[in-house]
Amino acid sequence: MSQPYDRVILGDLVLPDRVLEGGYVAVRGEAVAAIGQGAPPPAAETADHAGRLVFPGLVDGHMHTASSIGWPGIEGATLSAAAGGVTTCVDMPYDIPRPVTDADLLREKVEWVHRLAHVDVALYGTIRKDAQGQGMVEAIAGLAAAGACSFKFSTYEYDAVRFPRIDPGLMREAFGEIARTNLMVAVHNEDQELVMKLTAEAKAAGHTDPIWHCRTRPPLAENLANLAIFEIGLETGAHVHIAHSSLARGFDIAEDFRRRGARSSGEACLHYFCMTEEDVVRLQGFGKCNPPFRTRAETELLWDRLLSGTVAYISTDHAPWQRERKVYQGDIFPLGAGLTGMQSFAPVLFTLLEERGLSPTLMAKYACAEPARYHGLAPRKGSIAIGADADLCVIERGAFTFDEAAILDRPEFRHSAYHGRALRGRVAATYLRGRPIWDGASVLAKPGDGRFVPRQNADPVGLP
Ligand SMILES: [Zn+2]
Repeated sequence: MSQPYDRVILGDLVLPDRVLEGGYVAVRGEAVAAIGQGAPPPAAETADHAGRLVFPGLVDGHMHTASSIGWPGIEGATLSAAAGGVTTCVDMPYDIPRPVTDADLLREKVEWVHRLAHVDVALYGTIRKDAQGQGMVEAIAGLAAAGACSFKFSTYEYDAVRFPRIDPGLMREAFGEIARTNLMVAVHNEDQELVMKLTAEAKAAGHTDPIWHCRTRPPLAENLANLAIFEIGLETGAHVHIAHSSLARGFDIAEDFRRRGARSSGEACLHYFCMTEEDVVRLQGFGKCNPPFRTRAETELLWDRLLSGTVAYISTDHAPWQRERKVYQGDIFPLGAGLTGMQSFAPVLFTLLEERGLSPTLMAKYACAEPARYHGLAPRKGSIAIGADADLCVIERGAFTFDEAAILDRPEFRHSAYHGRALRGRVAATYLRGRPIWDGASVLAKPGDGRFVPRQNADPVGLP
């Protein structure tokens, strides 16, 4: 007799607004076909996670698989994603040697995703800037048509080709084009002139120890950039999104602009909720990221903004640099800016919520449903709902420790700011479109099992 369902997965289902204890997810093909509580329906296979928490697979709305080694980096980043319960990676366009600046490049990157990815991948696009500082804004419509989920720009130049600064004039022109696509444009928010001036002064004074990474990128650098990008958004009608606010003030500014009719929002990376300037001193290069960690008081303000509903979603900004580019040898400035975060995302976020006595539903909302919605991937991704892809992350409660040696990426990327941190849970299983891809010990997915997820619709995202 054929079974009505291919697989049922048992456990406490964590939805954005409630937990269904003693629940089940019934899968047919690649999609969720039924959910409920109590006795599960018959199925060809049963995965018994009773007593564990079954979340939607996490959607990491901001990560960089290919900044340091190019598109081959998709393989290891998505391997660690599978082990970390992340089933959709929304990958940034700042790839070496060629950023994703037109539809042909996007299609080429999609081929690499289909060859290498262990989990599903959505893609940002950006624009090329030529030697005269002119941008190729005519590529924007083509990128949107080819399935890019969002756009990414920067107010700060890390690299003239890979990660260029887009000046206000070009930004205004590009935002006008993006407004017509209804896609969101996320912007790296640090003021170029202020950071360059403070960095030059620090170097001239011989201040090159780790804390000067924070001192040369103060809150004002973020807030000046936030004001500029939202003002251009207000004029052009584009949905402008702070790619990472380390400060409560960034969310307050976004809210002010929304009240004045702008389409403005912002996300916070997980590390800004728990890491502080003292951690930069302790971790040296392994705690270097942009924007930098702030004060303990600021982390508390960020929790306040999350709980008041002004943070769009939580991301990792996973950006693995080779270990030798992170080792401090007396000068913090030349080291790579970026942390690994894929495999630590679910266990650390779950732990922070437990430590604060907060509901795990916040993880289902801010690390699954909302990033999927902001990137136009919902309802297919980010929720346990009938018809959605059966992507699941199963968390087992217990006392664990994060060990960077367990990161499943390439050996040179096995470093973490969370190394040695006590955890309240671990990822016991991950399912991608109904199939187990991580069993708590091994990744079962193979390179190429992951697929490109194009934007599902061109509707503007509803904002709070
Ligand atoms: Zn980033």
